[in-house]
Parts: sequence; structure tokens; C-alpha cells
Amino acid sequence: MTTTADCIFCKIAQGQIPCKKIYEDEDFIAFHDINPRAPIHLLVIPKLHIESLQHVDASHRDLLGKMLVLAPQLAAENGASEGFKTLINTGPAGGQEVYHLHLHILGGRPTA
Ligand code: AMP
Ligand code: ZN
Repeated sequence: MTTTADCIFCKIAQGQIPCKKIYEDEDFIAFHDINPRAPIHLLVIPKLHIESLQHVDASHRDLLGKMLVLAPQLAAENGASEGFKTLINTGPAGGQEVYHLHLHILGGRPTA
């Protein structure tokens, strides 16, 4: 498991690694996925390092609620006018590659 120090998304959140940023506030940063699997492929990450959805607890309720409320706003602002998919890969069996919680937003065409 990654720790904050060697976490690529922590480095993006801290501005140490560049990204195609589309949004930032005190709790979140959102950017274009580097390897898009749809015409619109956005990632929303909390600035707080949480390894995965398996690592959340009740103290994260507000943060997780805010992340979901952000999703349709960012989708609309980035051209997903006809809807979108959201995805959170969790753990090895869930196909998670980056162990810093992130929400995928996929839009622009029907995806499987
Ligand atoms: P997953 O952990 O499987 O939910 O997916 C991690 C996602 O992060 C993949 O879709 C990658 O293409 C994406 N990704 C990895 N590194 C970067 C980066 N430096 N900038 C933007 N997206 C990235
Ligand atoms: Zn991190």
C-alpha cells in the first residue's frame, strides 16, 4: 500500500506533479485522466490521503458527500451534457491501481 510520501495523487494534490486540472477547492482537486477511456474522463480526488473506499469511516461522511455533489457539476462543466458514469475502483479485486481514493467520471459516449 502506498503512503502519502510516495503517493502520486498526493503529489498532484500538492502541485508537485502536473495535471490537466479542471477544479480545485480546499478539499478536492479534479483533473483529466492521463489515459482516458472515454471522450470525457475526469478524476476527482480528496486532498486528504485515503487509500481506498475500504479505508473510509464515519469521519469521512461530509467529504464523501461533497465528492458526489461535485460530480454532476464537473461533468456538466466539462461537456458531459447527456449524462455520465461514475466509478470507484476499490482494492486489488476491484482493479484499483492508484491507492488514493478517487472518483472516475466518464462521459461523452455510451461506455460498457
Ligand atoms: P484506478 O486506480 O484503477 O481507479 O485508476 C487510476 C487512474 O489514474 C487510471 O485511470 C490512470 O490512467 C490514472 N492516472 C494515473 N496517473 C495519472 C496522472 N499522473 N495523471 C492523471 N491520471 C493518472
Ligand atoms: Zn495520496
